[in-house]
Amino acid sequence: MASDKLRIACTVREAREAIAAARAANQRIGLIPTMGYLHDGHVSLIDLCKNHADYLVVSVFVNPTQFSPHEDLSRYPRDFERDRHLIEAQGAHLLFAPTTKEIYPEDSQIRYEIRVLADHLCGPKRPGHFEGVLLVVSKLFHIIQPDVAVFGQKDLQQLLIIQRMITDLNFPIQLIAGPTIREPNGLAMSSRNSYLTTGERRESATIYRALQEARQLIESGERSASIVIEALMKRISKVQGSRMDYIGIVDLARLQPVEQIQGRIAIALAVYIGQTRLIDNMILEVNHGKVQEIPAFH
Ligand code: AMP
Repeated sequence: MASDKLRIACTVREAREAIAAARAANQRIGLIPTMGYLHDGHVSLIDLCKNHADYLVVSVFVNPTQFSPHEDLSRYPRDFERDRHLIEAQGAHLLFAPTTKEIYPEDSQIRYEIRVLADHLCGPKRPGHFEGVLLVVSKLFHIIQPDVAVFGQKDLQQLLIIQRMITDLNFPIQLIAGPTIREPNGLAMSSRNSYLTTGERRESATIYRALQEARQLIESGERSASIVIEALMKRISKVQGSRMDYIGIVDLARLQPVEQIQGRIAIALAVYIGQTRLIDNMILEVNHGKVQEIPAFH
């Protein structure tokens, strides 16, 4: 509905009631799922969604099923009032902010099993993570029933796994990918950046610089994935307090490691800076001598 006032729904029922009117008016519903503590990356996704939908729903829910017991669920940053203001200022129509009990009234007995796309990168490092993501995203899809959903390319593996779920399970939803929004120094924006000290934030700029240097290496003709990975490792190991979680060069279709850099590939990495785990990626199309950065969905 063309309402200029943001509605807030905390229950599934309230959300469905709010959306019913928009759907009755034949409006296209767009969903932007988030875990809150919004930054310009999230804002860009809301903006992008305006090109594809009339009625914008932003969800804010820190999903426990995608966190392992040793991860940062309890200290994940939260600021509901700030999020509400930002979402309202962006002209979204509905903020869906359910409690954990509302989404998981009982211990869920049903789980997804992901093949191939979760074999590498974050998959083995965060067991159960993508299964938890699919669980909550499919619940949000069923609750909101959006025509369009917008996700960020910053979480590339998540994006491709969700696209695959949509395709494999016939969700009637168009997935739109938004480019990674960065700090002026190149650091990919993330709610988790709030954990970084000023010094760590400065040091973290090296991650994107290293990715750019990897691209330059490929542009200069290097095609061996292991050589490019080694150069990246070396560069990032110089960052004070850093610990590499993984670096992978994978094909974009199946996220399997490649030996030779050719066609559509992603360079993806996760690095601990102090206690904070940061991820980033770069997608390239390499065709003979030509190297081009491309979006996830080309
Ligand atoms: P999160 O709140 O971290 O779960 O992220 C919610 C959505 O925002 C996901 O689709 C993310 O991929 C996306 N996102 C997170 N960081 C960025 C960023 N720096 N630029 C663009 N999108 C992002």
